[in-house]
Amino acid sequence: MHAAIRKWRAPAAVLAGLTLGIAACGADEDPFAGFQTTPVTAPPAPQSVPSVPAAPPERPVNKRRPRPRKPLPRAGVSPDPLPAATAVPPAPDAGDQRLPPDCCSEPRRGRRIDAIVLHTTESADAPGFGDLARLARYFVRVRKSSHVANDGQGYSSRMVDDDRSAYHSSYWNIATLGLEQVGYSAFGDEAWLARPVQLESTARWIAHWAARHRIPIRRCEVAGLRYNRNRRVVAGVLTRRGVCSHAQLDPRNRDDPGTGYPWEAVLRRARTIVADAS
Ligand SMILES: [Zn+2]
Repeated sequence: MHAAIRKWRAPAAVLAGLTLGIAACGADEDPFAGFQTTPVTAPPAPQSVPSVPAAPPERPVNKRRPRPRKPLPRAGVSPDPLPAATAVPPAPDAGDQRLPPDCCSEPRRGRRIDAIVLHTTESADAPGFGDLARLARYFVRVRKSSHVANDGQGYSSRMVDDDRSAYHSSYWNIATLGLEQVGYSAFGDEAWLARPVQLESTARWIAHWAARHRIPIRRCEVAGLRYNRNRRVVAGVLTRRGVCSHAQLDPRNRDDPGTGYPWEAVLRRARTIVADAS
């Protein structure tokens, strides 16, 4: 009932259509032809307007345009001399899980590789390649990478080629190769030694890379680390080429592969593999 006595209101679209209709008709015939129009009166004389200071120019709206992220500095070439070239033992067999280049790596442009970096993934083993496939998916999601990953069963995955820089240790990426080991930095010596096939795989990768890129099989050393406000390393020198822990290269953010890692056993085995290949 109330609806019946309510005034009908033309919807805005209808009004707009009418207006448009008039304008459109005017083009064909003048609807006011023949009517007397009021003579135009002279416009009123302009009154003197008290002078007011000009309004300050409007401030441009601060449109927050994303500033291109300034690339972090990169490690320079190590001043440590190269060791003699040796025969190159073969790399372990690896599944091909190369990551898309646009997310996870960039050309090294001939830059020399000074060190191998050992990591732990802080994740658990899964049967077969399941753990390594999961790691590859994670890397693509967070735009990180390592050259190779291996797991407790001794499987290896090749994710980035040596001649590309992988995203595994920030400032040092350009000068290093990264090996992610499925496992935890909290593992003690015993837990690591209970994973002999993984340690053998790691030793074989170290042996292969060390001979191929002329990296001495020993712990690396760094000096002069400096950090930015976000605790990222922005300066430092690899004073001793070799095999590094991620913790050594980024001590304020990382502790992998952990204090229980059996460095001596792994490096000794890698030296033997290189010696046997000669
Ligand atoms: Zn790491």
